[in-house]
Amino acid sequence: MKWMQHTCRQAAELMSLQRDEPLGFWRALGLKLHLGVCGDCREVDRQLDRLSDLSAGLWGGAHGAGEEGDGTQR
Ligand SMILES: [Zn+2]
Repeated sequence: MKWMQHTCRQAAELMSLQRDEPLGFWRALGLKLHLGVCGDCREVDRQLDRLSDLSAGLWGGAHGAGEEGDGTQR
């Protein structure tokens, strides 16, 4: 099923892309399948999540008083 297999590089591109815009159905599915078989990319995905949390915290901190919580903060 070569047509829906992603290389790690494509997977990495999709992972950063999906943080800016929703992937199409097939691209999201292909990425999910790749993450299912590739532990390296799962790790990258986790680190990207941590990075975006971190930068969200940084930007939030810079704003200081203007808190716009979405109810998901711990
Ligand atoms: Zn991979």
